[in-house]
Amino acid sequence: DYVFKILLIGDSGVGKSSLMLNFTDECFTETYISTIGVDFKIRTLEVDGKTVRLQIWDTAGQERFKTITTAYYRNANGILIIYDITDKDSFKNVSKWLEDIDHYSNEKVYKVLVGNKADLHPKRAVDYAEAKNFADTHNISLMETSAKTSNNVEQLFATLASDLKHASENG
Ligand code: GDP
Ligand code: MG
Repeated sequence: DYVFKILLIGDSGVGKSSLMLNFTDECFTETYISTIGVDFKIRTLEVDGKTVRLQIWDTAGQERFKTITTAYYRNANGILIIYDITDKDSFKNVSKWLEDIDHYSNEKVYKVLVGNKADLHPKRAVDYAEAKNFADTHNISLMETSAKTSNNVEQLFATLASDLKHASENG
């Protein structure tokens, strides 16, 4: 069996907890889910007939929790950097989150940029093309999701599980 630790980071309110709960519990709530420091949930997937267990670590975005979350960067196999497509600031802050990854994570960590709340496209403030350009510059992949409609959530984690499995087999 394979076990991978996935860390969710990004500004407060972008939908980290919602994405985790959509994937692990298949639910969505309109209310803000308060997270104290770091919390994790596990979901198991099948990849090429093998069991892959994803441990999803949900962090709180607040600066005051920085000291708690930094310890989790080190052990993560994969990190999802999440922004809200209706919130330009949350996208601008992705650079800051990438700096933290550079400081605290191991080099081989697998990164994915995630534009969440894609169901709110009438309120879109971050173009897909702009985000894609940014992701390409930083050599990371990009996916837009909705924790509300579940759009792309399963695909996001399935791709991650598959890529991590293949990476671990190829050293
Ligand atoms: P976190 O601070 O990053 O963990 O954000 P939350 O998961 O607590 O979500 C913040 C707010 O955004 C809540 O009101 C959620 O219901 C809402 N939300 C999260 N994801 C989505 C989404 O994909 N679409 C919409 N429309 N709302 C979302
Ligand atoms: Mg949260």
